[in-house]
Amino acid sequence: MPDSLPFIPAELSAQTGFAVNPLDRLSSRRDDADFIAALKADPSSRFVVIGRDRPVLKRLASGYDPLFTRAEAEEIGQGRECALLGVRGDTVYFAQLLDDSVVSIVDVADEGGLIDTRQFVIPDRDDLFVHDLRPMAIEGALPPDLYGLLSQAKSRLHWHRRHRYCSNCGEMSDFAGAGWRRECKACKGLHFPRTDPVVIMLAVHDGDCLLGRQPRFNKGMYSALAGFLEPGETIEDAVRREIWEESAIRIGRVAYMASQPWPFPASLMIGCIGEALNRDIVVDRTELEDCRWFSHADVVRMFERNHPDGYLAPHHLAIAHHLLRAWRDGEAPGFE
Ligand SMILES: [Zn+2]
Repeated sequence: MPDSLPFIPAELSAQTGFAVNPLDRLSSRRDDADFIAALKADPSSRFVVIGRDRPVLKRLASGYDPLFTRAEAEEIGQGRECALLGVRGDTVYFAQLLDDSVVSIVDVADEGGLIDTRQFVIPDRDDLFVHDLRPMAIEGALPPDLYGLLSQAKSRLHWHRRHRYCSNCGEMSDFAGAGWRRECKACKGLHFPRTDPVVIMLAVHDGDCLLGRQPRFNKGMYSALAGFLEPGETIEDAVRREIWEESAIRIGRVAYMASQPWPFPASLMIGCIGEALNRDIVVDRTELEDCRWFSHADVVRMFERNHPDGYLAPHHLAIAHHLLRAWRDGEAPGFE
């Protein structure tokens, strides 16, 4: 973000995966086509390249590099939309979408799993690696401050790739505002990239915390319950409804804790804590494999990876990890 806007590393939100993205997004200059074209032509500008929703990386002798010059990005293959991300220091960043034809899928297996195991390749370019952002972040393959940049690029270009036609009249829409908008000449409709809110929350009761697991989770891992916020709901209402639907626990008071951009494909995770009014759980087996109360001592052992029953805390990439850690450390909002 601009130098004049503070970045607060101690904020719980700032500690979540994909949150560090301190770009000046140049909102006042997005419609200045000459200005944007000059930035794009500047040899110091860098391009993140996305093919079929996955970042393209250069293979280095040790590790990977997701930043390309414009010439390098163009050399990869047919490009589609190129969106301005923003400026940081002296460098301007863009996100370049490749035409789907540039990237081949060579293996399809287990698409329903947490980790997408399909392998994407760019033929005759062994120097490039097309990698799913989630395992890339779990593996920590890149410097931490690049994940926010890739997250923004992935979510924005995911939207462009699927919204080339006007959702009002069906005509082809135009890329506009350096990628922050699409416009329809036929009906004059304006369309903006989506961010889909998801509530994710800890229910707490008498010193215990409610966690659940989905069948696709790693063995032993329990996490905070979550679900999409629906039209017409407040965040608090969505927290109460989701916990009720998945566990039959009724929630009274709700407090906000933190948020996280989640680029799968374009969500904002809104982390909350809620005061449970009952303890008798009825697990919604269509959503969850299990759901149970954990004591504070349980949660301490889950983080230390020495729980006698093998229970584990969520990965630190996920906001649930940070919500649970804050609760463990007595830093979550209370209701007394
Ligand atoms: Zn239209």
